[in-house]
Amino acid sequence: MKIIVSSSNKDKLAEIQAILGNEYELVTKADAGYDDIEVEENGDTLEANALLKARAIHELSKANVLADDTGLFVEYLDGKPGVYAARYAGEGCSYQDNVDKMLEELKQVDDITRRKAYFETAICYITEDGKEHFTKGRMYGHIGFEQKGTHGFGYDPIFIPEGFNVCLAEMTDDEKNKISHRANAIANFKEMLRNL
Ligand code: IMP
Repeated sequence: MKIIVSSSNKDKLAEIQAILGNEYELVTKADAGYDDIEVEENGDTLEANALLKARAIHELSKANVLADDTGLFVEYLDGKPGVYAARYAGEGCSYQDNVDKMLEELKQVDDITRRKAYFETAICYITEDGKEHFTKGRMYGHIGFEQKGTHGFGYDPIFIPEGFNVCLAEMTDDEKNKISHRANAIANFKEMLRNL
């Protein structure tokens, strides 16, 4: 069964493929011929943004389409940056700007138990017949006191998953992919596919 993933990121596609297995043929939106479709992610929930991205490709292709959206929810900041994780430090900011802003916002919080956070990935899957399905996955942990490690991207240098004393940027891709919000969401998606 063929599924278009509403992303041009080959690493994301490989991660999804590894979890779903070879029963499913995943193609990026670029390989499906929709590279020029850019969607403004202006929803105020992860599900809304995933839906926007999935619909944009489904309307054109009428194929099975998967889209995801991820946010970081920090308890001390009342759930911020949440759905705005990519542009926490402002429009056009870098990953480093976001990490710097987060460390700055939490600099007074010296008790690690008050630095709790989780990543959440929402998946929207639209089937050929136009039905919209949703699932999600989380990874709990806390924000470290300083940035460490060189792997990964985004907030990986400051996110310490629950049960570990290293941050995501100190783990290999394989280690991270066993526990990540995205991996959990994709595993839930696989389960959902079985029941469709
Ligand atoms: P996206 O929806 O996958 O594009 O993720 C939105 C933003 O969340 C990214 O720009 C990153 O800042 C952050 N993010 C998503 N997934 C991860 C992750 O696995 N580690 C660190 N940051 C992440």
